[in-house]
Amino acid sequence: MRGKIIKGIAGFYYIYAENGETYECKAKGIFRKDNFKPLVGDDVEIAVLDEKEKEGSVTAILPRKNSLIRPAVANVDQAFVIFAMEDPKPNFLLLDRFLVMMEQQEIPVVVCFNKKDLASEQESEKLARIYEGCGYRVVLSSTLKGEGLEEIREILRGKTTVVAGPSGVGKSSITNCMQGEIKMETGEISRKLKRGRHTTRHSQVIPVEKDTFLVDTPGFSSLYLFDMEEEELKGYFPEFRKYEDYCRFQGCRHIHEPDCGVKEALSRQEISSLRYEDYLELYQELKEKRRY
Ligand code: GDP
Ligand code: ZN
Repeated sequence: MRGKIIKGIAGFYYIYAENGETYECKAKGIFRKDNFKPLVGDDVEIAVLDEKEKEGSVTAILPRKNSLIRPAVANVDQAFVIFAMEDPKPNFLLLDRFLVMMEQQEIPVVVCFNKKDLASEQESEKLARIYEGCGYRVVLSSTLKGEGLEEIREILRGKTTVVAGPSGVGKSSITNCMQGEIKMETGEISRKLKRGRHTTRHSQVIPVEKDTFLVDTPGFSSLYLFDMEEEELKGYFPEFRKYEDYCRFQGCRHIHEPDCGVKEALSRQEISSLRYEDYLELYQELKEKRRY
């Protein structure tokens, strides 16, 4: 039977199978031997060992479409990053850091600003325009008023989506709205999962409907950029691209160079100063990191 690894805890994998049941499988045998580490999100074949106890064994891992390093998840189609318009106010540097990480890993991102009921229409539209101007799809939502939820459902449908965002923005509220009838962690598996609760939190996959999965990722507030030279960073700000042809110097970093197409676009407000400031901040951070 086919299934997907939805969670890994202390020597066990939990597999959400195509029959809608979750099975506990020991992480052992063939994979360890080949030095191949299964990831949350991997599609697998399992053999059921005990239907009543919901125990099985992974017999094969199906070919991966891709695998992310941060978070460590396989077969991701897109990321959905949620911030709130208010309470808490958006931390743009954190948002841009996340966008850069996903650009680097070539994962498309949809940006969601939730709690739009707490902000004016103009404020929400202004934010949406900034990120749409960078090429991202933006959703404005309110779980309180039930707005934007159909649009989110349509964005998520049929895909595996990493859901990220700081706490308090409405991540669980949105996830719960999407989950519908599927109930997770019932009965036996719930008992088994609780046993492992004390271990460090890893990513876990939440089945929403057939072929639709959300990936819940911990540790969003402590993102840091990795394996990147500061010179690479500009490549992960998609809105810079069309202006780079106008830079006088090849390899222009758009900081101190004269005749820079990006800085000219910035002065015409065609590039958002908020984004550009974050570019400078992240550039500096990468540069300082390299000194150590
Ligand atoms: P999480 O920490 O990101 O999972 O956020 P929660 O879903 O737990 O929501 C945090 C708080 O924000 C809760 O008190 C929710 O009731 C509230 N909340 C969630 N969505 C909205 C919204 O659209 N508008 C308003 N005003 N409050 C919301
Ligand atoms: Zn330039």
